[in-house]
Amino acid sequence: MTEVLLRGGRPWGLEGPADVLVRDGVIAGVGAGADASRARVVDVSGQLVLPGLVEAHCHLDKTLYGGPWIPHSADDTLAGRMSNDLGRRAELGVPSVERVIALLERMSAFGTTHVRTHTDVDPAVGLRGVEAVRQAAETLSGRLSVTQVAFPQHGLLTNPGTADLLEEALKSGVEAIGGLDPAGIDRDPVRHLDAVFELAEAYGAHIDIHLHDGGSLGMWELELIAERTAVTGLGGRVTVSHAYAMGQADEARQSRLAEKLAAAGVAIATAAVYSFPVPAVKVLRAAGVTVACGHDGIRDLWGPYGSGDMLERAMHLAYRSTFRRDEDIELALEAATYGGARALGLSGYGLAVGDRADLVVVPAGGAAEAVVVHPPRTLVMKEGVIL
Ligand SMILES: [Zn+2]
Repeated sequence: MTEVLLRGGRPWGLEGPADVLVRDGVIAGVGAGADASRARVVDVSGQLVLPGLVEAHCHLDKTLYGGPWIPHSADDTLAGRMSNDLGRRAELGVPSVERVIALLERMSAFGTTHVRTHTDVDPAVGLRGVEAVRQAAETLSGRLSVTQVAFPQHGLLTNPGTADLLEEALKSGVEAIGGLDPAGIDRDPVRHLDAVFELAEAYGAHIDIHLHDGGSLGMWELELIAERTAVTGLGGRVTVSHAYAMGQADEARQSRLAEKLAAAGVAIATAAVYSFPVPAVKVLRAAGVTVACGHDGIRDLWGPYGSGDMLERAMHLAYRSTFRRDEDIELALEAATYGGARALGLSGYGLAVGDRADLVVVPAGGAAEAVVVHPPRTLVMKEGVIL
């Protein structure tokens, strides 16, 4: 039996300080009174105790992290970034197990304990990305857990052979099936969703669809996804990433869409990068929609930015959402923790007795300060082990 007592910290959500007792990888007590006579005691007085941070949308397979600086070489269009990715990844040794490991180590040091990553699957790269990410994740399995989305980055219907490879990825154990702009890239949203939802149903997989399409086209696709999710009963297992169209719509349309997403059980994941539209976090949360957060690309052929720090990412989400009040900024932290956990379908996540002891301690007085300052982490724990 191994026991750790985090003494004097303030678990997020509680009004005052409370000790957290961890026994055999699980939270065994919160507050005074627990028998901790055999525990290793760590004093975290005055610091904020959070559940492990959840990176809900990234692209580990693409990263150049840990290698030399590579100047960005794509033009300023989505098509240009896609062709830059296809044209240069072999030359730059992408995917690289070593670089994925380097990035995961960085994420872990920042307190991330769960990662969902979209891995390119197409006839050119095959399943090499899936295998590289799997190998890296196994190497670091004691520090964070990684689930993959088999992602048709270069088209599904429009890129022959991709659907079969996506199925191969799911057969090999990949946890989720991805989609990409069913109209804007794949030109046939109904057939695109047919393919994605059929694979999800056949393999019991989650769904996570990149949706950059804007305006009324994107809003219509969001409605299609909500309707399809309701019909198939896959609520709670479907995420739409980016959903720029929702950030562009007026508030009345945002609210109507949020009600539909909530009723169907569709989550929204956002990265809040560059000047791309950010879905309306407050409208979504008020309707009961799960909102998750991630970096998207981290130092790759799509762009040079990204640190792997989910508190910093939450700051970007809060800033892009023009959140100033503590209770609003806290919504961004919710997306980087509980929201991500719900989107990923994690069980035993949180700060309650019986939850898995995936914890991060931050020298901050509260959630808003942790997000705005995102200071160095004091302690990171995965399943009861201090890292
Ligand atoms: Zn992405």
